[in-house]
Amino acid sequence: MLMSPVEFFRQLPKKQCPECGQYIEEQAESYLTECERCLSKKVE
Ligand SMILES: [Zn+2]
Repeated sequence: MLMSPVEFFRQLPKKQCPECGQYIEEQAESYLTECERCLSKKVE
């Protein structure tokens, strides 16, 4: 039994930044595990 892609993604838990706990919007850069704010702190 196939599950529609929409239903599949709906069941995924929201990503949460481990640094500040902020929920992350799903984006093309889905490999990111932290929010933009924390990422910008780390990139130097
Ligand atoms: Zn963060």
